[in-house]
Amino acid sequence: MSGVATETLIVGGGLSGLYAALLLARRGRRARVIERAPRLGGLAGAEEFRGIPCDLGSHRLHPAALDRPLFREIHAQTPFLQRPRRGVLLLGDRRVPYPPNALALARAIGLPASLSTAAGFLARAGRRRAFVGWDADRAVTSGDQGFERFVRDRVGDRAYHAFYRPYAEKVWGLDADELSQTIAKKRVSTTRPWALIASAAGRAARWIAGDDEPGDDGPSGSFVYPERGAASIIGWLEAELARAGVPIERSRAFEPGDRDRGPVLFAGDLRDLVPTKLEHRGLYLVYIALPVERVGAAETYYSPDARHWFGRVAEIQNYSPALRTPGETILCVEIPEGAWGPRRDFGQGELLAALLAQLTWAGIVPRGLKPIEVRQRFVPSVYPLYRRGWMAEWRATMARVATMGNIVPIGRQALFLHVNLDHCADIAEAAVDHVLAGLHPAAWIEKAENFLEIRVRD
Ligand SMILES: Cc1cc2nc3c(=O)[nH]c(=O)nc-3n(C[C@H](O)[C@H](O)[C@H](O)COP(=O)(O)OP(=O)(O)OC[C@H]3O[C@@H](n4cnc5c(N)ncnc54)[C@H](O)[C@@H]3O)c2cc1C
Repeated sequence: MSGVATETLIVGGGLSGLYAALLLARRGRRARVIERAPRLGGLAGAEEFRGIPCDLGSHRLHPAALDRPLFREIHAQTPFLQRPRRGVLLLGDRRVPYPPNALALARAIGLPASLSTAAGFLARAGRRRAFVGWDADRAVTSGDQGFERFVRDRVGDRAYHAFYRPYAEKVWGLDADELSQTIAKKRVSTTRPWALIASAAGRAARWIAGDDEPGDDGPSGSFVYPERGAASIIGWLEAELARAGVPIERSRAFEPGDRDRGPVLFAGDLRDLVPTKLEHRGLYLVYIALPVERVGAAETYYSPDARHWFGRVAEIQNYSPALRTPGETILCVEIPEGAWGPRRDFGQGELLAALLAQLTWAGIVPRGLKPIEVRQRFVPSVYPLYRRGWMAEWRATMARVATMGNIVPIGRQALFLHVNLDHCADIAEAAVDHVLAGLHPAAWIEKAENFLEIRVRD
């Protein structure tokens, strides 16, 4: 597969494909990109709404992303903004900073409930061990006891029913007992519940004893953000590829004959490559422009509450002041496809009225405020659906890809991963190294199982 004259075809013009193409070109390899959609960007693209490039759902870079070569290079030319995290978790009628701090969480679920939950954990040595092991126990490829059992054993019944179960069922539209523990390991574990509850119990006890103030702990950390939105990263890659002379064909889907000529780095939809039972869930994005300067200080609201259709709501200008028009503000409301299917229209009529009512109860949209404009976009294939036992299907699917001989799957779609932008960049780099070392694609597919252990950061 090596040889400077051979052209490498890159399928998919999202971050993974574009970055892989740039790395190849910079290392003297001929590369060509095809992208099925008329525009580049994939999930890191933008919806132009009222002159603002709005992200396709809430995107933030983890500060550690700046250690990665791609983001370091962009940052050196156009510095990313460092923003305070001002997320808000809506729990019943309480608001908790997100990621949650211990005392605020204890206050939101109530002092008796949090003390009894914490006492339950500490009393049961086995459960405590499971908690301590939560963070260390990252392997998603070992046995699957299911989401419900995995989480209940670690956080107890009360927290499971109050938070984890409704949130998982909202996103996936399935009973929690159909879901794999992978969902907990890849996503839920980022809240480090043992440390949180133990600390909440300690602080709550000190609060009762009068030794501590139940005050607001303020914003929880910071994030990094491109001044003109996530799609400006794609814009940077596009400009670099033009400089490097890499051709990009838009509105051009991968066809079976495309793999006859040379190696293919495939960052597109796995289902376009081989038959598979692996499936995704999509996301409705409802952009709402309101005639006020701003609705609040939070950049994102999170709601596990089953009474809210939305899982997250972002106020765009709170990510970057450059994403703002005087006299109005834009909310991006994320409604998981869940059990709705892909064909609802939340952007008008009764569904819009009900959604606005929910946003008002949640305290996000001021009462009586009428939108200036609303637009809906449905984004398919956002969340890989990790059902119980999915791993066997993943291995069978990848074995089919391996028999194709010259396909190197990369990125979120082709590897069926739930990962961040910087993870996609890391995987693209590793794949390019693999190809340039002249190693066989089947050997890459064997390695790819390690990427399943990556945990998404929110
Ligand atoms: C709502 C949401 C919030 C997120 N938040 C964050 C965050 O806060 N921080 C973070 O770092 N990351 C975040 N991410 C993740 C990040 O956006 C993705 O991991 C990343 O953009 C995936 O890039 P990719 O190139 O691997 O895949 P994609 O972006 O999915 O790109 C795949 C591309 O391939 C094209 N394609 C598919 N099939 C074919 C085919 N057969 N032929 C040709 N082209 C094809 C598609 O049209 C698409 O353009 C978020 C994602 C979403 C959806």
